[in-house]
Amino acid sequence: DPRLEAISDAIRVIPHFPKPGIMFQDITPLFLNHKVFKDTVDIFVERYRDMAISVVAGIEARGFMFAPCIALAIGAKFVPLRKRGKLPGKVISEAYELEYGEDCLEMHVGAVQQGEKAVVIDDLVATGGTVSAAIKLLECMGAEVVECACVIGVPELIKAENRLNGKALYMLVEPN
Ligand code: 5GP
Repeated sequence: DPRLEAISDAIRVIPHFPKPGIMFQDITPLFLNHKVFKDTVDIFVERYRDMAISVVAGIEARGFMFAPCIALAIGAKFVPLRKRGKLPGKVISEAYELEYGEDCLEMHVGAVQQGEKAVVIDDLVATGGTVSAAIKLLECMGAEVVECACVIGVPELIKAENRLNGKALYMLVEPN
C-alpha cells in the first residue's frame, strides 16, 4: 500500500522516553498531517467496513485517537477500554503483565452484547499483553473478537504466553 511509507515517516522516535534505554515511538506527528491521519484511519475502515463489525474497542490512551474515527466511519459503536478506576459504572477488569509489575484494563458491563463482532484498536503492540487483556474483556461479555489492529507492531516482541488468544494482529508498519 503506497500510503504506508508516509505513515511510517510520520512516526518519530524519541530516545530515552519515558525512561532511559527506551526508544519511544511517538505517533503525535501523524495527527499534524491531515492526509496521513486520514490515510491511517481509511486503511482500517477499508478493511473493516464490510465485515459486519458492530464494536470498535479502543485502548486508553492512544487507541482512543483512532478507534472512534474508525467506529464512526464503519457505522459501529466505540467502546473505551480504560485503565483501572477510570470508568464510573460497573466494570469487568483484566490484569496483565508489564515489564515491571502489572496493569489492568476495564470495560463497562453492558457496553457490548453477546454475539457482537468486535475489533480491538491500539496505537502500538509490543509484548501483546495489553491487547490480550482487551480480547479477554470482550470475550468475557460474549463478543466475538475478529482481530486486533495497531498502527505499529513489533512482531518479534510478542510474547508466546500472550498469543492474543489466538486472534490475528493486523499492523500497518514496524517501528522506525
Ligand atoms: P504491550 O502490552 O504490547 O507490551 O504494550 C503496548 C502498549 O504500550 C500500548 O498500549 C502502547 O500504547 C504502549 N506503548 C509501549 N511502548 C510504546 C511506544 O514506544 N510508543 C507508543 N506510542 N506506545 C507505546
